[in-house]
Amino acid sequence: KEGEDDDFDENNYEYIEDNSDVRVFRENATFVTLVRNKELKHILQSINEVEKRFNHIHHYDWVFLNEEPFTANFIKLTASRVSGTAKYGRIRGDQWRYPDFIDQSRAEKSLRDLKDKVHGGELSYRHMCRYESGFFWRHPLLRDYKYYWRVEPRIRIMCDVREDPFRLLRERNKIYGFTIAIREHEWSIPTLWNTVRGFMEQYPEYINQHNAMRFISDDNGGTYNLCHFWSNFEVGDLDFFRSPEYLAFFEYLDGAGGFYYERWGDAPVHTIAVSLLADRDQLHWFENIGYFHEPFQNCPIDKEVRKELRCSCPNDAHVNPDWRDSLAFMPNSCISEFLLTAGQP
Ligand code: GDP
Ligand code: MN
Repeated sequence: KEGEDDDFDENNYEYIEDNSDVRVFRENATFVTLVRNKELKHILQSINEVEKRFNHIHHYDWVFLNEEPFTANFIKLTASRVSGTAKYGRIRGDQWRYPDFIDQSRAEKSLRDLKDKVHGGELSYRHMCRYESGFFWRHPLLRDYKYYWRVEPRIRIMCDVREDPFRLLRERNKIYGFTIAIREHEWSIPTLWNTVRGFMEQYPEYINQHNAMRFISDDNGGTYNLCHFWSNFEVGDLDFFRSPEYLAFFEYLDGAGGFYYERWGDAPVHTIAVSLLADRDQLHWFENIGYFHEPFQNCPIDKEVRKELRCSCPNDAHVNPDWRDSLAFMPNSCISEFLLTAGQP
């Protein structure tokens, strides 16, 4: 029954399986999932997809995070499907509540005003976005890893993942990889870009000289074009988030209150950060990872690659065959902006 379990302290974890006899080279990397107990069924689906297409060969670890204690049932069922070591962490209470400087009546007004929008009116969603923006990599269970792959409930991996994405990041000196890039709802971030401009003025030395401003702005920084990497899938370098540059960026944004007075998502926040603070050559589109999170998908464009990777890419209702079955070049997609910016071969 839910709620009956002992509390798990944030360093506590289940030791599942000793894979030390498996002769596969592994990067210093882990999957990471923020999830609620009630999403058990949906996260089991995601684990099955990831294991079937990739992790049954590698046995990477998997870190599960929650602001509430995971139930014994959740731990038992998820741990038995992860082929690496599964670890369960509790989020610190002070990282999942209004910070002191937030005017709570103003925050609640924003929740009421946006209640008819997607995730507009849920306080828990705002805490979640702020946690993913400013805290997930600080969790003790993530301290010793270099790379992470974020997985959400209800996703599908639609092709075999033959090349280890963590290894690609290391070998090609990348810090952030994505599958889908689209436009954000403007209503969720009305003052985000002005705040970012304030940051750029205060910390000009933190802005990378070879940045990806072109990806996020059509007028060289005057306005935000709403392009963002869809952060329900991310493969990234935790050291980027640990850097003084990113910490200053998060602190600056957090202080402006937009995680609560508006509905700033972790996707535009991560995107703007990697676009301004990192080198644009350090960003990577995983074009051959078949990935689905309602309502969008990414699938290899090349038919031969699809065959080779045993893809099962459903024909999406939104897809015009002229775009070769790919959402990558739909009007709302930002993949072409990315290719113009980073020129990925
Ligand atoms: P969407 O993809 O934007 O519709 O948002 P989701 O509902 O999928 O939430 C994003 C991620 O945060 C998912 O991994 C959820 O499981 C997780 N999440 C959302 N709200 C909460 C919450 O209140 N508590 C916890 N522990 N996880 C949450
Ligand atoms: Mn989701």
